[in-house]
Amino acid sequence: MLIVQKYGGTSVGSSERIKAVAQRIAETRDAGHRVAVVVSAMSGETDRLLGLAGQVTDRPDAQASDLLVSTGEQVTVALLSMALKDMGYPTQPLLGHQVEITTDSAFGRARIQRIATDRLTSALNDGAIVVVAGFQGVDADDNITTLGRGGSDTSAVAIAAVTCADVCEIYTDVDGVYTADPRICPRARKMQRISYDEMLELASLGAKVLQIRSVEFAKRHHVAVHVRSSFAPDTGTFLVEEEPSMEDVIVSGVTSDLNQAKITLLRVPDRPGLAAKLFGPIADDNIVVDMIIQNASAEGSTDLTFTVPQDDVQKALSRVAHIAEEIQAGGVTSDTQVAKVSIVGLGMRSHAGVASRMFQVLAREGINIQMISTSEIKISIVIEAKYRELAVRVLHDEFIAPAQ
Ligand code: ASP
Ligand code: MG
Repeated sequence: MLIVQKYGGTSVGSSERIKAVAQRIAETRDAGHRVAVVVSAMSGETDRLLGLAGQVTDRPDAQASDLLVSTGEQVTVALLSMALKDMGYPTQPLLGHQVEITTDSAFGRARIQRIATDRLTSALNDGAIVVVAGFQGVDADDNITTLGRGGSDTSAVAIAAVTCADVCEIYTDVDGVYTADPRICPRARKMQRISYDEMLELASLGAKVLQIRSVEFAKRHHVAVHVRSSFAPDTGTFLVEEEPSMEDVIVSGVTSDLNQAKITLLRVPDRPGLAAKLFGPIADDNIVVDMIIQNASAEGSTDLTFTVPQDDVQKALSRVAHIAEEIQAGGVTSDTQVAKVSIVGLGMRSHAGVASRMFQVLAREGINIQMISTSEIKISIVIEAKYRELAVRVLHDEFIAPAQ
């Protein structure tokens, strides 16, 4: 088999960990497999480098910033390669530009456009363990780019796709994908498998196991992904193609996100074009608006509420304040003490009444629902932040693991 293994920051966070990872790679090789490895920077390193940039300037140049943060992965590629060679294994270390992982030029959030396979496959065919720097690529002008935080996941899945690997193993510090955060919900359990679409929802709703783009990539290119722990030998969670039987399970996961803020424009005049006027500039600032609700207007005006990531709330508010004045809205309020709680499951497509069951469970606990949004396989609500953990637990009890 050809196996791509990706090791995240904590898995390569110290020289001891790097030696342990080398041991694990060696075992895979000894079992007769070909192995390509993708590594992240040592844990904390990317943040440390960004911190340095922040000490030099308030507005680090995006191109230079990518040049800076990409060094974190260069360190781990080098150290891991040394460890493997020391153990007697032929090893080929490669940076993104040496592989030729070509991306667009959106520094800090570049997208992979093409990956050359010549160097990867010839090294693998020569029997070498290939060790590739995750997170980084190169644009058409030979500038180093990076793929956004957590981007090594996407590097690994993309390399698995172009090399037609049998599996892409993502080694991390948790042992798989859980039905809820085990720190909040003691009855949460590890899923054996999950469909790409469910994982996409969970990843975008705040479950931080995988970078969303890596899941999109895996889905598009049919890459079998295995999320597992580098600290333990057990099988983790497989991301797989959807199967009909998966619809029998109504809810596969409950997730929550505290990094949310709610902004409300009061008494927005009911005229065509105002939503465009509001959300255009917010999008131009790269602020991702998640939920939006607007009521039917009473007497020619209506309140409009939407959510943004909490880190972006000041930026969004300064935009919104201008626009509110311009369109003569009644005022702007914001609230950062909110959480988004979501249930996800393919079975929602074929089972009616899931939303009402969800709302009943919350009503029973006296939790007020401030906003609701749904998709085919997900229902999200916004509630007061202090009820987040309780909401996750009662929803998990209701849909996934009823108390005995
Ligand atoms: N080192 C990068 C980060 O911290 C990429 C990664 O770990 O996947 O975001
Ligand atoms: Mg990660």
